[in-house]
Amino acid sequence: MTEAASVPSSPAAALIDGKAFAATLRQRLAEQVAVLRTEHGIMPGLAVVLVGEDPASQVYVRNKGRQTLECGMNSFEHKLDAGTSEADLLGLIGRLNSDPQVHGILVQLPLPAHMDANKVINAIDPTKDVDGFHILNVGLLGTGQKAMVPCTPLGCLMLLRDRLGKLEGLSAVVVGRSNIVGKPMAQLLLGDGCTVTIAHSRTQDLASVVRQADIVVVAVGRPEMVRGEWIKPGATVIDVGINRVERDGQNKLVGDVHFDSAAAVAGALTPVPGGVGPMTIACLLANTLTACCRNHGLPEAGLAA
Ligand code: NAP
Repeated sequence: MTEAASVPSSPAAALIDGKAFAATLRQRLAEQVAVLRTEHGIMPGLAVVLVGEDPASQVYVRNKGRQTLECGMNSFEHKLDAGTSEADLLGLIGRLNSDPQVHGILVQLPLPAHMDANKVINAIDPTKDVDGFHILNVGLLGTGQKAMVPCTPLGCLMLLRDRLGKLEGLSAVVVGRSNIVGKPMAQLLLGDGCTVTIAHSRTQDLASVVRQADIVVVAVGRPEMVRGEWIKPGATVIDVGINRVERDGQNKLVGDVHFDSAAAVAGALTPVPGGVGPMTIACLLANTLTACCRNHGLPEAGLAA
């Protein structure tokens, strides 16, 4: 097996620029939000609920709030302390469900251990469930019906369609089977006519499974696990992983794919950072606009999967 150190560091693969794609998407959203306001007097609104002081969650929530406002939407932030009871959180969700100014509701995960995350998520009005985690939306997506689609897989799908056009007939391997990334990603690829394999920690000979794929989506949370030697030449690789590692005494973000070795083999590849990450918030805003249009019986902007 080729060692990573002997692989040239200059990428042969095309870089899939998620940062630029997300910026263009946010610009389109802002234009559509402006039309909604001027022609219909409607302003889409996103409520984000954060329980506790998890530092990473605080950063995500801040970024979501800023980008929501930049798109011309209303942003409602609800910060609850870590000791808030589940009943109080459910009470807040109930009020947001019936608030006509709120079209999207996101409860930032993870929740404190004393709360049942499934119960909380399933208390959100499914039509306002812009994360797409409510059991009804999971079922709608799984049966090929109009759903709210989880943001990260939706962003990956947009990048793949942009890069490859029609995905029909392609062989896709999704590494990771989480409810928030792996499983909905597989459903979306299946919906687009791919032949889909879902791999996970119990998969045997993962390298040879990955090597069959025209499309590889990796969401495992293990730094640089998937290496170039695993990838079919010319394949399109989407790296969802975000891992903080220390290199040469410095903190660095790396994906679940070993970038240099993969870039020497793949046809196209998302970088970390600057690949899937920026797409997630852009898709959250797209979902909020979609939810708002559906709520008001207006034509959708065509951004849903
Ligand atoms: P998760 O819930 O921890 O799921 C990880 C999945 O990877 C599991 O299905 C697990 O298999 C599988 N896995 C773990 N080790 C493996 C191995 N050695 N070989 C094969 N499969 C293995 O993680 P997640 O929430 O899906 O997130 C995955 C990564 O994506 C993380 O780095 C996270 O930070 C990142 N992420 C990024 C974004 C973004 O916006 N870019 C959004 C969400 C997540 P089992 O089910 O068998 O345990």
